[in-house]
Amino acid sequence: MKTIFQKIADGEIPAKIVYQDDTCVAIHDINPQAPTHVLLFPTKPIPRIAEAEDADAQILSHLMLTAPKVAKLCGLDDGFRIVINNGLIAGETVPHLHIHILGGRQLHWPPG
Ligand code: 5GP
Repeated sequence: MKTIFQKIADGEIPAKIVYQDDTCVAIHDINPQAPTHVLLFPTKPIPRIAEAEDADAQILSHLMLTAPKVAKLCGLDDGFRIVINNGLIAGETVPHLHIHILGGRQLHWPPG
């Protein structure tokens, strides 16, 4: 069964797409936790970072290199935070690896 992010990548569910290439998609989060809250995910449905494999190294490096480019596209010139929730205890709700890109306000530490 497809994840919600696969359906978005395949155009079956609408989303506000910020960026897309052959490897990944970035969309605005439906329930933003900051003025800018974007989700960057690979088109390959890796369930979560703990289940990524050595063979996924190119995808992971692409995501990490793309995240700052997406932040720049969103105008987050003052800074941004990237977050990956892994597992229920961390708040993961969609089992398709994604990077949260948050910015547009002062972000606090430690996170909740
Ligand atoms: P997680 O909790 O797994 O780290 O993050 C999942 C994120 O996906 C949440 O921030 C949630 O608001 C977002 N989300 C869930 N369903 C949808 C959807 O259908 N469209 C969009 N754009 N975001 C979604």
